[in-house]
Amino acid sequence: MQGKRAVVLGGAGFVGSHLCERLLDDGAAVVAVDNFLTGAEENLRTLRGRPGFEFVRQDIVEGLQVEGPVDYVFNMASPASPIDYAQLPLETLRVGSLGTENALKLAEARGAVFLQASTSEVYGDPLVHPQHEGYYGNVNPIGPRAVYDEAKRYAEALTSAYARVRGVQTRIVRIFNTYGPRMRLKDGRVVPAFVGQALRGEDFTVFGDGTQTRSFCYVKDLVDGLVRLMRSDVTGPVNIGNPREMTILQFAEAVRAAAGGGGKIIHQPLPQNDPKQRQPDITRARTLLGWEPKVPLEEGLRETISYFRTIAGDRAAP
Ligand code: NAD
Ligand code: UDP
Repeated sequence: MQGKRAVVLGGAGFVGSHLCERLLDDGAAVVAVDNFLTGAEENLRTLRGRPGFEFVRQDIVEGLQVEGPVDYVFNMASPASPIDYAQLPLETLRVGSLGTENALKLAEARGAVFLQASTSEVYGDPLVHPQHEGYYGNVNPIGPRAVYDEAKRYAEALTSAYARVRGVQTRIVRIFNTYGPRMRLKDGRVVPAFVGQALRGEDFTVFGDGTQTRSFCYVKDLVDGLVRLMRSDVTGPVNIGNPREMTILQFAEAVRAAAGGGGKIIHQPLPQNDPKQRQPDITRARTLLGWEPKVPLEEGLRETISYFRTIAGDRAAP
C-alpha cells in the first residue's frame, strides 16, 4: 500500500476506523469521510495526527468532494446495527443507493478500485446453510430489516452495473457478524449488549429462545480480508466471516466466561425476520484470497471486554 491513497467512506465508524488504521500501518495515505450519523469523533482519536491521515466531514448522499489522486475507495458508510437502521430507515436506504452511486462516481472519475461493503443480510433468513456466495437469499422486501437488506442488495447491483457498463474495477465483500473495540455499547447488537450486561452484573437479554445461531469474526481478521480483497482481482462477491457458529445462548455463556460476570438469562421477544441461522461458507475467501480468520473468540472477546472496561467511566455507564 506504500505510495497509494485510499478513501474510506464511513471512516469514523467501528469497522471503518480499524480499516483506516490498518491502511496507514501498511504505508497508504488515507482520507476518511464520515457525517457521524452512527460513527463518532472518538473513533478517530488514534488516527488524528498520524502522518498521511485526513478527515473530511461529508454526507456521501449529498455528494463527495475529495481532492487529489485516489487509488482505492472503500465504501463502508451505512448504519449497520438492526436498532440503528430501524431508527434511520430513509438514511439507510439513501446511503446504500445515492451514497453508493456517488462513491462509484468518485472511483470512476479517478480510476480507483472500488470496494463495496455488503453484508450477510443479503441472504436474509437463509434457506441454505452455510451460506455461499451463489445463494440468492431469502429477504422480506417490506419487513423492518428490508431498509438495510435491500439497500445492500441494490448497492451490489449498482456496483456490478458500474463494473459492466462503466468499466470500474469493483470488489464486493459480504461481511458476517463482526465485533471488537469501538462498537457502541448501546448500538443494540448482541456483542456490546451482552458485554455491557456482563460488566454491569445484569441479566443477559436473549431474544427469542436463543437457539438462533451467529458466527462472530474479530474486526482485525475482517480488516485483513478487506485489504486482501481490494488488492486481488476478484470481482464477484466474497464472504468474510468466521465459520465458528454458535447459538445465542452459547454466546451468552462465552461472554460470561470471558468477562467473569453477568446475571441469569432472561428472554425477550424475537425481532421480526431475525435470521434463524447464519454461518459463512468461506471457501472463496480461502482459495482466492488465502484468507481465513485467526483470532479465536475467547481472545477477541478479551480485547473487546478490555475496551469496554476502559470506557466504563463514561459511555459504558448504565
Ligand atoms: P458503523 O455504524 O460503526 O459505521 C458506519 C459509518 O458510516 C458511521 O461512522 C456512520 O457515521 C457512517 N455513515 C453513515 N451514513 C453516512 C453518510 N450518509 N455519509 C457519510 N458517512 C455515513 O457500522 P460498522 O459496523 O462499522 O459497519 C461498517 C460497514 O460494514 C457498513 O457498511 C455495514 O453495513 C457493513 N457491515 C458490518 C457488519 C458488522 O458486523 N459490523 C456486518 C455486515 C456488514
Ligand atoms: N440478540 C439478543 N439479545 C440482544 C441483542 C441481540 O439475543 O440483546 C440476538 C438477535 O436477536 C440476533 C443475534 O442476537 O438473533 C444477533 O443480533 P445482532 O443485532 O448482533 O446482529 P444481526 O445478526 O441480527 O444483524
